[in-house]
Amino acid sequence: MKVTVLSGGTGTPKLIQGLKNILHEEDISVIVNTGEDTWVGDLYISPDVDTVLYTFSDLINEETWYGIKNDTFHCHEQLKKLEYDEFLRIGDRDRALKMHKTHLIKNGYKLSEIIEMERKLLGIKAKIYPMTDDHVETKILALDKSEDKQKSQSDFCSSPIEQNLQFCSSPILLKFHDFWIKRRGNVNVLDVIYENSNYAGVVEAALNDIENSDFVLIGPSNPITSIGPILSIKDIKKALMDKTVFVVSPIVGESAISGPAGMLMNAKGYDVDVVGVYEFYKDIVDTMIIDNIDKNKKDRIGCEVITTNTIMKGLNDKVNLAKDIIKCFDEI
Ligand code: GDP
Repeated sequence: MKVTVLSGGTGTPKLIQGLKNILHEEDISVIVNTGEDTWVGDLYISPDVDTVLYTFSDLINEETWYGIKNDTFHCHEQLKKLEYDEFLRIGDRDRALKMHKTHLIKNGYKLSEIIEMERKLLGIKAKIYPMTDDHVETKILALDKSEDKQKSQSDFCSSPIEQNLQFCSSPILLKFHDFWIKRRGNVNVLDVIYENSNYAGVVEAALNDIENSDFVLIGPSNPITSIGPILSIKDIKKALMDKTVFVVSPIVGESAISGPAGMLMNAKGYDVDVVGVYEFYKDIVDTMIIDNIDKNKKDRIGCEVITTNTIMKGLNDKVNLAKDIIKCFDEI
């Protein structure tokens, strides 16, 4: 059985650990979000891609879902002493992979070519692709909370038009890391955009793998900042229309298990629950996998639904969830 997985950098990698226990690794392909790729100083950082590489090579730090387990931070600490502003804490061994990417990018290689080298060098049999080789960047349109305060003060004296004008002049466009790491999400989000996605092309090999897969699995990743950017690549979305697509909800109850998914879904006008997740994916989803605690919402979801435990704490949870998905596909 061949499966193509769409992934961000926390929820879906957990499920990938389950999948790789029950499928042949070479039958798994993963298309990864690169909307959060950025430069930190002179280093090119592709956070979700590196997490997927480390997940398959059993190096991942499962406490943070970022970087390598038991890594050291000598270089980062030394840089700090030299007053070098490295806002991400990059481990020494993790830095090696980032230096490898940076060197090759500066020498004109495509990201997909670099990842292909790295997965082979790390002994990974699964295929791993970036969502595009082009530059697509997720940006958060937000209102600074201090400006928002000024706005509410001015509510007393301005007409509605003046208030709107003031509102329109205030928003700031943040890179994802500025929003989530530097400002810790402490802004009022107005919108999320995938800059340049209209012009971005797909990696042909990824498209072929979608076509040759038995089904596509959208793991429990943030719909807005992890899967939304992948779906913003037109050829990927189009290819999914003709496939059997399973979606695992990253929302359990009324909130995300981790990260800003709830706040961002709200900003995009979706309810923060499994029904909101369904609404987000309704053009492409065939079967949704939701948590047992959400089974009372099943009737409000307009596709097939499986209810099971979707909270992956240990390897058993991950393998069981992967088995439930494969079993459901077999039954279809
Ligand atoms: P990011 O790239 O680090 O933002 O990570 P992802 O987008 O891949 O994953 C973040 C999403 O995964 C969040 O919305 C979480 O709610 C969801 N998530 C994390 N762990 C679990 C889990 O064990 N079960 C489910 N259902 N969702 C999870």
